[in-house]
Amino acid sequence: MADGTPGTPVSEKAPTRILAVAREAGLPEEVLRDLVDHPHRTEEILRDAVGDLEADGRSDRAQRLVEALRDHPVSPESGQYASIDLVRMLDGSGEDAAGARADRILEELLRPGNLLEGPADVLAGYFRRAENREKALYCYNIASRGLLARSAESLAGLGLVDLVPLVGRARVREELGLALDAHDRFALAVVERYLRENSDAFDWDGESPGRGGDGFRPEASEPVQEVRAAFSRESLEKARSLGLLSPETDGREPDAYYLDTERALRGYSRKHPGTPVYTLLAGADEIAAFARDHGLDPADEATRRAWAQDRRDDFWILPWPPERNQRCWCASGRKYKKCCGSPAHH
Ligand SMILES: [Zn+2]
Repeated sequence: MADGTPGTPVSEKAPTRILAVAREAGLPEEVLRDLVDHPHRTEEILRDAVGDLEADGRSDRAQRLVEALRDHPVSPESGQYASIDLVRMLDGSGEDAAGARADRILEELLRPGNLLEGPADVLAGYFRRAENREKALYCYNIASRGLLARSAESLAGLGLVDLVPLVGRARVREELGLALDAHDRFALAVVERYLRENSDAFDWDGESPGRGGDGFRPEASEPVQEVRAAFSRESLEKARSLGLLSPETDGREPDAYYLDTERALRGYSRKHPGTPVYTLLAGADEIAAFARDHGLDPADEATRRAWAQDRRDDFWILPWPPERNQRCWCASGRKYKKCCGSPAHH
């Protein structure tokens, strides 16, 4: 079989190959029919199928499918998204060989001139959650390339959704202690305005929480909004090595950790109907530093909760539960209904 004949558009060749892999992966007949009937939706259908397989605990089949999407991408972006999915799966396996392979794939993605804007934004989030701010910034710079090519003033008409990579870039540059440029100041001002205008959701009691220092109150009474923190997938290993995980959590698969958190969220919202619940993914170093600053036990669940409640105005908090078809709050890359929200788990 001639592989990758020069001059042949990838998209014209991919579906037949993909179809063979999909058959081999034992995907249900209706999925295979969908693939034949809607070739332009190949990527979406397969990503859904990957989510289904992962939700069913068939992670080796899911991985084979992602490898196929990566080897025969329906577009250059699609191949890079599949690579990032594969990195997430390899990371999650906790095996040394898999980790080394994930590193090689990341290295390849980060090769100068390689990474495309959309995947760069996803990869930036991955590095940000892993508290690797230099690499996150590298990716955000690529993801914001189109926006950075324009003057900050000319972006005034754009909505927050269009500015997300630029906001991420500004946040990371702020965290790195870099001097803010005109684009940073513009992006952060847009977020501030957004938070102000959506004060129903974000203004819990009219008081500013203050960032760190004296603003911290460990025993807040009934919160008007509840923000729960969980360690990000990328920082779980670090959290484990710093001894920040509870004995029940330690040594368990990442998905089991997030399902436990999901159960706790459901328990909370059952007991407090009407209180809006949000999630926020934490880095291990952030929690450790917060505990140090406030003289708290870094491994205590209450410390994580206090850290999260202190970030009630954070741009990265997500309303929980997500819509069924939205990406899961745990950043697995799967849809909520096929991840922590899957009926199979509850
Ligand atoms: Zn999830």
